[in-house]
Amino acid sequence: MSARIFAFANQKGGVGKTTTAINLAAYLAAAGRNVLVVDTDPQGNATTCLGYDPRGLDISLYDVLINHVPAVDAILPTERATLSLLPANVDLAGAEVEMASMLAREYLLTRGLAQIQESYDYIFIDSPPSLGLITVNALTATTGGVIVPVQCEYLALEGLTLLLRTIHQVRDVLNPKVDVAAVVLTMYDGRTNLSQQVVEEVQKFFPDRVFNTQIPRNVRLSEAPSYGQTILTYAPESSGGRAYAALAQEFQQRMESDPAAILEEVTEEDAS
Ligand code: ATP
Ligand code: MG
Repeated sequence: MSARIFAFANQKGGVGKTTTAINLAAYLAAAGRNVLVVDTDPQGNATTCLGYDPRGLDISLYDVLINHVPAVDAILPTERATLSLLPANVDLAGAEVEMASMLAREYLLTRGLAQIQESYDYIFIDSPPSLGLITVNALTATTGGVIVPVQCEYLALEGLTLLLRTIHQVRDVLNPKVDVAAVVLTMYDGRTNLSQQVVEEVQKFFPDRVFNTQIPRNVRLSEAPSYGQTILTYAPESSGGRAYAALAQEFQQRMESDPAAILEEVTEEDAS
């Protein structure tokens, strides 16, 4: 059984891509799933959040994409045995330029992940806040689709048309499987009408694809990275911790009871 690969993408900065990718990954790992987080952002935030200093890496995603180093050589362990990290650092900032002249440049990440795909249940790709070649690589590599974190703020939907256009372009040419798998509403503030309005707008725009669980604004979520911890170890009882626990449950209900996925599994077993 090969991993379902999800890309966490939104070219808007600071909407909760990294926070959602690593914390959802942590709770799924705690539920017994084997999860790999792939940091594709030169900022290396997912790398920091999972306990590593991006400046101290010997091997990173850059080497996998550009120097054909096997992904398995770059993967690092984390606080939990079932949660692993393929880290990134600032080297990646130059990678887009180098990738641009490489053959099959949109498939570099797909190829890099191919050999390790059998080792995981889920691979979560944390994308940078842009729609450049690295994000296109992430969209091309997904088999499960795109998870779009949307911040509950004024003009939340602004810019999503651009993301959708990119997703559709990638689907037409590079990866027929890519689509918006789900939307996660982040930094929700139940005391404001604005947050509620955003929820309704987003639900109207993406019918049936918005997670019922919203992630509240919670200071513990922003503190955890400075301790190199996920919210699961840093503050599981906080509102943020409880929200990501609930999101993980909803994720499993939605993604693991998908009849198409189960059918695929059965067919694979029958074939072997
Ligand atoms: P970038 O586009 O730079 O990669 P991002 O979309 O990955 O950003 P995050 O890094 O996850 O966004 O979040 C942006 C900032 O907001 C971080 O400092 C993070 O700790 C904080 N943050 C994220 N989610 C929450 C939340 N629910 N409550 C409070 N702070 C949050
Ligand atoms: Mg990020």
